[in-house]
Amino acid sequence: MRKQIAAANWKMNLTYQQAERLLDEILQEKIALGPDQQVLFAVPFPYLVLAKSEVDEVHGYAIAAQNAYSKVNGAYTGEVSVEMLQSIGIKYCILGHSERREYFNESNEQLARKVELCLEYGIQPLFCCGEALAIREAGTENAYVQRQIEESLFQLSDEQVRQVIIAYEPIWAIGTGKTASAQQAQEMHAHIRSVLAGKWGKETADAVPILYGGSVKAGNAAELFASPDVDGGLVGGAALVAQDFVQIIKALK
Ligand code: PGA
Repeated sequence: MRKQIAAANWKMNLTYQQAERLLDEILQEKIALGPDQQVLFAVPFPYLVLAKSEVDEVHGYAIAAQNAYSKVNGAYTGEVSVEMLQSIGIKYCILGHSERREYFNESNEQLARKVELCLEYGIQPLFCCGEALAIREAGTENAYVQRQIEESLFQLSDEQVRQVIIAYEPIWAIGTGKTASAQQAQEMHAHIRSVLAGKWGKETADAVPILYGGSVKAGNAAELFASPDVDGGLVGGAALVAQDFVQIIKALK
């Protein structure tokens, strides 16, 4: 069975002290995870080392970065490379979050490079895709998301794409309190899986976890995650509240 994943995306939130407390509160719950369940915390860069040391001994828990640059190293002031992440033992990295695409102009092409670099350095990308409201209203969301996947992932080999985690995050549902219905999420996830199957075959498509993101809450996680093609969630706001995220972890299949 493919991994079922609850991933917290802290974004640019929390002081160091608040981050430490939040992580402690969640870990104190000692939630027993099944063999195919995984919990990730995507924390701001300055907290990666601390957070990693806190979860290192805990089965099924790991830390993710929220971004990495598309170059290996060099004169790129303020950027963080995948090689740096690898050197501190980070194994996961969010790529192409819609906020990065919107505010930092990340393109599908640039993301293709970032995905390749992560894989080269043994880091599993959480590749984000998803359409804006106008695209959904025009009814062209399937083609739009397919194109994001084609332009950023289709250069990968079968073996490489099996290391990718996809997060479908409709932009109209992020931080808005407006969640896609379980049916809308399932339909898009099934579409994404069919796009993967068309390129790499059904067996590979079935091995790739596809997470849903966009106003996942303690109260709707179980219903969303119950759909056959929804393999957990990438969670923003609700992941900043210990008890809410605990409930979301417990809602994993
Ligand atoms: P949200 O954010 O859960 O606050 O909607 C999700 C995300 O952007 O990853």
